[in-house]
Amino acid sequence: MAADDADVLVIGAGFAGLYMLHRLRGLGFSARVLEAADGVGGTWYWNRYPGARCDSESYYYCYSFDPELEQEWRWTERYPRQPEILAYLEHVADRFDLRRDIDFGVRVASAVRDDDGWSVTDTDGRVRRCRWLVTAVGCLSAANVPDLPGLADFTGPWHHTGRWPHDGVDVAGKRVGLVGTGSTGIQAVPVLAEAAAHLSVFQRTANYSIPARNAPVSEAEVAATKADYPEIRRVQRESTNGHPFLVADVDALALSDDERDGVYQRAWDRGGLRFRAAVKDLLSDPAVNETASDFIREKIHETVADPATAEALTPRDHYFATKRPPIDTGYFETYNRSDVSLVDVRADPIASVTPDGLRLASGAEHELDVLVFATGFDALTGPLLSIDVRGRDGVALRDAWAEGPRTHLGLGVAGFPDLFTITGPGSPSVLTNMPTAIEQHVDWIADLLVRLRETGETAEPTRAAEDAWAARVQEAADATLLPQAASSWYLGANVPGKPRVFLPFAGGMNHYRRACDDEAAAGYPGFGLRPRACVSVS
Ligand code: NAP
Repeated sequence: MAADDADVLVIGAGFAGLYMLHRLRGLGFSARVLEAADGVGGTWYWNRYPGARCDSESYYYCYSFDPELEQEWRWTERYPRQPEILAYLEHVADRFDLRRDIDFGVRVASAVRDDDGWSVTDTDGRVRRCRWLVTAVGCLSAANVPDLPGLADFTGPWHHTGRWPHDGVDVAGKRVGLVGTGSTGIQAVPVLAEAAAHLSVFQRTANYSIPARNAPVSEAEVAATKADYPEIRRVQRESTNGHPFLVADVDALALSDDERDGVYQRAWDRGGLRFRAAVKDLLSDPAVNETASDFIREKIHETVADPATAEALTPRDHYFATKRPPIDTGYFETYNRSDVSLVDVRADPIASVTPDGLRLASGAEHELDVLVFATGFDALTGPLLSIDVRGRDGVALRDAWAEGPRTHLGLGVAGFPDLFTITGPGSPSVLTNMPTAIEQHVDWIADLLVRLRETGETAEPTRAAEDAWAARVQEAADATLLPQAASSWYLGANVPGKPRVFLPFAGGMNHYRRACDDEAAAGYPGFGLRPRACVSVS
């Protein structure tokens, strides 16, 4: 057997892979990161679509592991634009001298387990060996492009937002069609509308959105944040979503209509994802949720001048925040422009792409010069299953997960020893502020690797631990309204043929952190530690 290229191979150089590499180095492991792109950044490398910016606020959508880094970096806006986040991650890569251990332009094709470790093969056929394999592949990195007949014959350019060309797409004076009104589409619509001659938005499901209220960050705000970072981080770690605020202890149903409207109006005026935390039980009590949903529905009708368009934009088939809530800058206002039209493709689905545009089931044709797919991702499992991962006895992860992903704590998979999945399915991941979830996972994995190095053991989740965790994930989801949103990507419902399994852990980052800490404190019973090369019998 060839010597290992590194103790640990990490796949992906976004927020997760960069911090994993930094931690491993600090602990004296040899590590290499394999990254398909030619630069760091992950999500923020690929998602360069017009209007791309983060929905979490800049001062906490960043690493907390180094107080000096916190103090030296200065964010310029309340919500950072994609180039600013990418610049931040490039700064981190340079500051900690990470690039020398990253192989760029390397796309991993397969990872195969044997008794001694993992063989990782890239798409050029080069094989690298390691003892431990860590995936840092992101949750939303496998683009979901609808399989529409005729797409290859479209004469204009078409792009998925998550694979946006680096030199941009010229839409000036063009008729642009955008498919999809999730967080991405809702960010892109106002910006595309400004530049295009005409924008047609093809909407399948109307969405709620909260105004972002983006603004430059003043020197005073920067100074206050920097002085307060220890407390900000403490609250983030204890909150359910990794945000630096807690859900307000306000019982919406105990308030008068005026009082409740006042609560929502203040949250609306403040803007952002915090609207979700304005009252308690919003995600568990349908009656509470309906008050918030109704408030937003009224706002849509107040904003959009044409009543029929307003109604078409008003979500009535799911509760607010049961799908990931977008935040926006002038989204609903954009439909008051004469050069923007909304096309309801739930009533009249897209049938095919023609050389000149889109044809709907009714036969209606929409002529377009540029086509934009803001159609989301094969979330959480997609990035992992795009690699042919083979565990013990050659078992494929694709087969092991044929009926949906099964993990212990979203961190490991039975049958796949010494494989660790940062923000994998079954962890809070996409329900949290991602850097917070990532740092917790990386630190936890790092601690376990130190132990494995000391003891020479192998870690592989037991089936019993997986079963128990699957039940806990389901139970946590069932305690909320989240599984009720039929078309949610949280359930895999956006990808044809994908098993309908609620993917993230909805029980809260705080409770999740405790479960991970308990697992470690108890000596990792769910990870079935055993001497290397000992065949698991769990
Ligand atoms: P998404 O939420 O999955 O939205 C995709 C949209 O495309 C939905 O409106 C969907 O309709 C529609 N769609 C998909 N396939 C279609 C088809 N065949 N025909 C017509 N419509 C179709 O994807 P996203 O907007 O890219 O967002 C994904 C996630 O990325 C977000 O929820 C968020 O977690 C993250 N994100 C974050 C930020 C940020 O922080 N700034 C920005 C963007 C995205 P249905 O609803 O009917 O399926």
